Amino acid sequence: MIDTFDLSILVEPALNWFYENKRDLPWRQGRNPYGIWVSEIMLQQTRVEAVIPYYHRFMEHLPDIKALAEYPEDRLLKLWEGLGYYNRVRNMQKAAQVIVEQYGGEMPKTYEEIVSLPGIGPYTAGAIASIAFSERVPAVDGNVLRILSRVAEDDRDILKESTKKSVAASIKQIMPEASGDFNQALMEIGALVCIPNGEPKCDQCPWQFCCKACANKSYDRLPVKTKAKARRIEERTVLLIRDGEKILLGKRPAKGLLAGLYELPNVPGYQIKEEVLTFVREQGLVPLQIKELPEAKHIFSHIEWHMKGYMVQVADVESYHVTAEGPLPSDYLLVELSQVQKEFAIPTAFEKYTEFVSLSHGPEKNTF
Ligand code: SF4
Repeated sequence: MIDTFDLSILVEPALNWFYENKRDLPWRQGRNPYGIWVSEIMLQQTRVEAVIPYYHRFMEHLPDIKALAEYPEDRLLKLWEGLGYYNRVRNMQKAAQVIVEQYGGEMPKTYEEIVSLPGIGPYTAGAIASIAFSERVPAVDGNVLRILSRVAEDDRDILKESTKKSVAASIKQIMPEASGDFNQALMEIGALVCIPNGEPKCDQCPWQFCCKACANKSYDRLPVKTKAKARRIEERTVLLIRDGEKILLGKRPAKGLLAGLYELPNVPGYQIKEEVLTFVREQGLVPLQIKELPEAKHIFSHIEWHMKGYMVQVADVESYHVTAEGPLPSDYLLVELSQVQKEFAIPTAFEKYTEFVSLSHGPEKNTF
């Protein structure tokens, strides 16, 4: 158990190892609290190597908290496109607006103030407060819980709030003056040595001399995690509806999965061609040709979408416009492909289909 293990013996070896082995990452240049914040939010669901180019682009466009607070939401989502989990960046913007209103645009300097901002939990607040402001607070995430549960051979369930709190309290007691470096050392050991998938690299670990899991070869069963609930599977039919150089987009509801984002029109269940053509006509469009696209799968945290797709070429909308508003229902819009590329963030769930019209990174695969 961590509470009966003398964690203080871990501090010096971890710091020495960190100073020799730390990776040179862009957010480690200086101690800019905004940069640390941006990187920590991006890193929540994405690997370091993948985050780096996004981080540079984000910081170029939005170099400070004020710029983030004022940026138009659609462009912000476009900047985040590819990272997914868009609520993270929406919450960042809300927090930035609070910081501008209440703290003059400067990140507040204490853990308590930082953790009270929208979308900033104990881990991110601990990382910002310790790395940028040297406050002696822990930053406990899944990596830290994994490595400490191994060192101390602690078999409590790390997904339980009570375990997280207990581990955080134990780390707080041994937190050195170099608190930011120590927190980063824990993160780095978790990322490079005591890795989540695959065998830990105990021969490179600064804690091999005292690690119980290494001595007893028990690391395979640690950390203990309760089994996650099986994801719900949803079948959907995704439609790539084109009129020459334009494509039909819908906007998702303001709440729920992928809230408020633009999307390719899609309907529940696996539809056959005739049903798709009926749907297209119901939108006031005239289908000319229909072609089946490959199946695709996208995994969200609690849901899996299993998708079937069709590309439908429709008659030029201008040629049968009957009113000033056009024939489309208000929840759809027809947008030039070049404009979609520049201004609209389409969730990666649709990537397999947007590839067919060069909206994602791949080349255009197929047209009529
Ligand atoms: S010695 Fe091995 S099991 Fe123990 S913390 Fe280090 S890498 Fe993990």
